[in-house]
Amino acid sequence: MEKMLNEIIKKNKIYAKDGRVTTYIPELAKADPDALGIAIYDLQNNIFLAGDFETKFTIQSVSKVIILACALIDQGKEIVFSKVGAEPSADAFNSIVKLETRDSHKPLNPFINAGAIVCTSLVNGNSGYEKFNRVFKTIKTMANNPTIKVNEQVFISEKFTGNTNRAIAYYLKGANIINGDVEDVLDAYFKLCSVEVTVKDVAKMATIIANNGIAPWSNEAILPVDICKVLKAIMMICGLYNASGEFAVNIGIPAKSGVGGCIMSVVPNKMGIAVIGPSLDENGNSVAGLKVLENLSKELDLSIF
Ligand code: GLU
Repeated sequence: MEKMLNEIIKKNKIYAKDGRVTTYIPELAKADPDALGIAIYDLQNNIFLAGDFETKFTIQSVSKVIILACALIDQGKEIVFSKVGAEPSADAFNSIVKLETRDSHKPLNPFINAGAIVCTSLVNGNSGYEKFNRVFKTIKTMANNPTIKVNEQVFISEKFTGNTNRAIAYYLKGANIINGDVEDVLDAYFKLCSVEVTVKDVAKMATIIANNGIAPWSNEAILPVDICKVLKAIMMICGLYNASGEFAVNIGIPAKSGVGGCIMSVVPNKMGIAVIGPSLDENGNSVAGLKVLENLSKELDLSIF
């Protein structure tokens, strides 16, 4: 397996030149555009690594999956989906336009920024710090790594440049979709985007979802099975920004990408996969990471369809 992974990484490194590292969060502009790494963790507790698997990166929108999981555990499906939809979006991830034009003002889904900010507000906790900690602890448990930290420079960079997210959150507060202190909720959201991980951490997180909530290394139930079903469904239809449909056609597995260049993928009942490649295409997805997953899906026949 590792031989095949090394070949796939080597072959696809060249595609980094077709994209760009994100710059709208200034700290993220420092990422190495040519880094490309992968980790696979399967249900038999094997880990397979190739390329730049030690590269550290911030989890960014991949955290939206865990925020949704915590909101669902804390409030239940009915309340969560009364405040956020479950439909794909053809607008940019940080778009504000549909919030005003949709009758309900509900964000389209939990993986656009508006939806993730709503889900953050729904997580248990009396303050932003408590909400952050609730999700952060779940991330560390899912990754089986207590040493995971927040990258404070990225957090500060997000907080001071996140004015579109701020506009979204205040609009949602005005529409009575989020309660509580807006800045507090935003701090939790920005901090969760700034959690620093490696592909090994993210592959393990994905494995838990692939294994219906059970950690294969301890047989402990970390997430309820019905919540894993919802996560996989939303990842499948909304996980890759505006390219979610194309990803379903070409790769065919539930996944979530982030502007740090990570793509977390779940192969139900088989394995968790994480790739990192900070050079992004126009949709915000890792250019080389997508190619790696496309090759891998073909080689191992991973599509769920
Ligand atoms: N922190 C980023 C933002 O809200 C996350 C974006 C992403 O990875 O899609 O702008």
